[in-house]
Amino acid sequence: MIKNRYIYYILALLGLLIFCMQITKYIKKYDSKKKNELNPGIIAKYQNILNKKDDLSKRYDFLQKDNDDLLVILLRAESTRAKEFFPNGYKVHNTPYFDKFQNDIGKMVNLPHLYSLRNGTPIAVAHMLTRFKEHNLQSILSEKSVISVFDSLGFETAYISSNDFSIGGNANPLKTIILEAKHQFDEESIDMKKNEYNIAEGLNGNDWISSLQFLRMYDQGKFDKKSFVVVSQHAGPHEPYNYHPKSFNKFQPTCDAGNDFVYNCSKEEILNSYNNGVMYSSYLFSLVMEKVKDRNAIIIFSSDHGQSLGDDGDYGHGYMASNMMSQNQRNVASFVWMSDKYIQQNKDKFENIKQNSQKYLTHSILFHTFLDCANIESDIIEKERSLCSTKLKSDTKKEFYSDKKI
Ligand SMILES: [Zn+2]
Repeated sequence: MIKNRYIYYILALLGLLIFCMQITKYIKKYDSKKKNELNPGIIAKYQNILNKKDDLSKRYDFLQKDNDDLLVILLRAESTRAKEFFPNGYKVHNTPYFDKFQNDIGKMVNLPHLYSLRNGTPIAVAHMLTRFKEHNLQSILSEKSVISVFDSLGFETAYISSNDFSIGGNANPLKTIILEAKHQFDEESIDMKKNEYNIAEGLNGNDWISSLQFLRMYDQGKFDKKSFVVVSQHAGPHEPYNYHPKSFNKFQPTCDAGNDFVYNCSKEEILNSYNNGVMYSSYLFSLVMEKVKDRNAIIIFSSDHGQSLGDDGDYGHGYMASNMMSQNQRNVASFVWMSDKYIQQNKDKFENIKQNSQKYLTHSILFHTFLDCANIESDIIEKERSLCSTKLKSDTKKEFYSDKKI
């Protein structure tokens, strides 16, 4: 009996030991995922492609003036179209978190006629950061983006995304563009176990971690000096419109059918859920705006592409939708927000943006606008494509006013 009891003790001890070893292994595995930035394997894979790209900062001269504490931010929204966007006059108040930034804190100038060049995320976002006037994937893949230009001028550069890096496979041109930034974060590299800023967390989407990471870096002093930062969302009001927390379900009734939303929800339910998603997105981006309100800051908010909500006979965007790039999928919710400090120092640019705000434009203006509005001078900057210039030309191509085949 005594002998048997010892065997039981030894077996129990062994069991405990194996259990502890498994737990340690699991914790180690989990911790190795908790990287601060992108993992080296991913970087190595795409660095080679990046190295072959034409570096505009080496080919052109750039002169910068009075930029010591300038903060330039692209708030990249997802699937948010211009028509149902409260700042553009939409009757539903779906962006209440932006209200105070209209006139009370800095100034917001809406861009109701800004169009994306594509309607799928990776290529549409690549166009927001490169200088090409028309869509051409080979061009995007051949040249570095505006991030490298800012980087070469001593700006702190960061690309903080809820998941832009993981979508689109190898053909995703964003994978190399993101690497141009000094700091890159995606949903795997942001520690989302902690939410020290008490940000309302999405139910199914991780957009909230982009704002979380921005706030962390800002408070760590990473953007104290001149900086160019991309804060990028992936979920937003993307179909099936269920990425936001339930507490943001202000507009009722909602569509709760998940991926079967087209078959199981009315247009009204889909639109309500879409509006709730837009509201949550505005809440997340407002946290960034609140943080930088006292800085010399200029922010461009723009969605990568729009969205079909059933009203044009289609649902979704890009690859999910038909091969038509309808206006709804290209006319994107957009605005420029400037802090009081930026406006004081750049009165002419503020006036020019206001004067230009009603023009018909595409995302191809952003490259030139970022640089020009940051008081950078260079032959590469086309004033006809800068919101901060008196020379900005409205694009009068017919395709902006009608649905266009891809
Ligand atoms: Zn998208």
